[in-house]
Amino acid sequence: MTRFVCLTFVLAASAAAHADALKAGAFAMDVTPTKFPISVNGNMADVQAKGANDPLHARCLVLDDGKTKLAIVVVDSCMVPRDLVEEAKTQANKLTGIPADHMLISATHTHSAPTVTGVFQSEPDADYVKYLPAKIAEGIKTANDRRVAAHVGFGRVKDETQVYNRRWKREHAFIPPDPFGNTTDKVQMNPGNQAKGLIEPAGPVDPDVSMVSVQTADGRPLCLLANYSLHYVGGNAPVSADYFGAFADRVKQLVAPDSKDFVGIMSNGTSGDVNNINFGAPAIKYEPGERIKVVADHVAKKAAEGYPAIEHKGDVTLAAAVKDLQLAVRKPSEKDLARARTILDENKDKKVLTERAAIYARESMLLAKYPDTVPAKVQALRIGDIGIVAIPCEVFTEIGLEIKKTSPLAHTFTIELANGYNGYLPTPAQHALGGYETWRARSSYLEVDASTKVLATVKELLAGVAK
Ligand SMILES: [Zn+2]
Repeated sequence: MTRFVCLTFVLAASAAAHADALKAGAFAMDVTPTKFPISVNGNMADVQAKGANDPLHARCLVLDDGKTKLAIVVVDSCMVPRDLVEEAKTQANKLTGIPADHMLISATHTHSAPTVTGVFQSEPDADYVKYLPAKIAEGIKTANDRRVAAHVGFGRVKDETQVYNRRWKREHAFIPPDPFGNTTDKVQMNPGNQAKGLIEPAGPVDPDVSMVSVQTADGRPLCLLANYSLHYVGGNAPVSADYFGAFADRVKQLVAPDSKDFVGIMSNGTSGDVNNINFGAPAIKYEPGERIKVVADHVAKKAAEGYPAIEHKGDVTLAAAVKDLQLAVRKPSEKDLARARTILDENKDKKVLTERAAIYARESMLLAKYPDTVPAKVQALRIGDIGIVAIPCEVFTEIGLEIKKTSPLAHTFTIELANGYNGYLPTPAQHALGGYETWRARSSYLEVDASTKVLATVKELLAGVAK
């Protein structure tokens, strides 16, 4: 009898220790550039920002179950290249001891942040490329230093009103030739509101607003990491954190108005083919910045409606798994390059290329210098029964839906543009339909079957962390 009591006591003590094991800290590190003008990427031509409309942040969350630590960082940037991410992780590891593979660093995909990845006619700003990783590492360190006993929970609500598939099937006669002179595209991105010959959107949307909520052990809101599959909104003068920053502010007002250190985070889901415009309806006119506020407010209100139902607990297992895939590059042929040279020669006096054919000819010349295969880092994190997948691409929504459907964990979502940048990730079937997201450039260069390989790896990694 004595022995039995004793054993019960030991078990209870260990369960109690386990239940209190989770610690968490969050911090929003300001990463607004201090030097202007500065290059802003995300468009076919470079944009120079003359100041900051609103601040940019690297929003950091560190979780620690006593054995394993995870760091999740969402940066207000269009895309963060692999080298920059690795540098940030190396510096953060030195400051915190968190292994690089246990860190997820992603870009929101705001199209009004300093260029750190060369795409189209924007080149990285050397000073900001050096500044950003140090700031991210400092943000992770501060979040790590702020760890307190914490509980975590998951919530999911839907906002169907802000996501529209931007690729439309259209009658052939109305689809312009692609930049390589072919007339094989069956879909068109952003065709124009109620444009002639529109048939239907070429893919689905994912209306989920997924939420990882972190509270202190005594129930004070500490961080809400949200995930929504919306490309970006646009409309603010650069630099701006777009709706991602506006959501973070609005959700704090709604769920933690009295908190000084609550961190709201909006991560980008799988939105490679999804934006905020319903091309099946008339265009809606907005004042500059108005649309960002409308979207952020709507999504944040939905999140706040679902927030009270989230059940938080402290006895969760953390895990991480990473795999570097080698994926082939769709390189231009000799014939493609000969055509590109001719077009560039005709445009040689232009400081800024304006014709699509010339812009893509330049991209072809740059892609010719790429290696035949490139690494692409795929990652899976586990927070109890929550799975977070990270893919370094602009991932088509249907791929994210497939991951959600097949995950062995109860609640799973994907953060795109994470741990590097490997361009768009359409499915092979979407490649066959053509359109902007498939046109060969530094923004879309992976082999046609890349998504099949990425999906297989995601499944393998999720199975590993779910064990
Ligand atoms: Zn994009």
